[in-house]
Amino acid sequence: MSIVTVERKILKKNDEIAAENRQIFKKNKLFTINLLSSPGSGKTSLLEKTIEQLNNSIKIGVVEGDVQTDNDAQRIAKYNVPVVQIVTNGGCHLEAKLVQNALENFDLSTLELLVIENVGNLVCPANYDLGEDKKIVMLSTTEGDDKPSKYPPMFRVSDVMVINKTDLLEYVDFDMNRVREHAHTINPNLEIIELSCKTGEGLDVWIDWIRDNL
Ligand code: MG
Ligand code: ZN
Repeated sequence: MSIVTVERKILKKNDEIAAENRQIFKKNKLFTINLLSSPGSGKTSLLEKTIEQLNNSIKIGVVEGDVQTDNDAQRIAKYNVPVVQIVTNGGCHLEAKLVQNALENFDLSTLELLVIENVGNLVCPANYDLGEDKKIVMLSTTEGDDKPSKYPPMFRVSDVMVINKTDLLEYVDFDMNRVREHAHTINPNLEIIELSCKTGEGLDVWIDWIRDNL
């Protein structure tokens, strides 16, 4: 029981810091995205494609969350965008305080879009508000179409579900109608975007979604 109490206190504190982050983002007129998925769904690949398409017209900053290594931040740094790596040292999610500390490394007033790539995990990141405007949950066709049913909180709190690796649909057992149906049962307002970071199919829909939200 005491563990539950402690966890609740931590969450409350997190919400307070998330509210501070939200004020910081608002003050700097920054649109912020919290990118969520299991490991290997393609978060960093989507980020690379997004930067390739928007870097000339929109000022983008990136926060990378990983349990270990700065591999993803190195991938992003190649595009010449400001990027900060948070290494959680075993922590399985980002917290608002970690993001707030990372913000000190950006000149926020020069940015328009901030993407926070969370630690690959479909469970507890759902409980940690970072102060972002939108939560994006990614799912790839190789993971199976039962993810929304198995991890409902993540799909309930998200604004958009991006289904990646549509180029592999013919090789995997992934029923697009089934996953859409299950996701909408959990969250009727969930927007769904199907794309392939590999072939570029559907990326225009994602890019349009970002432009519409800026
Ligand atoms: Mg990544
Ligand atoms: Zn966690």
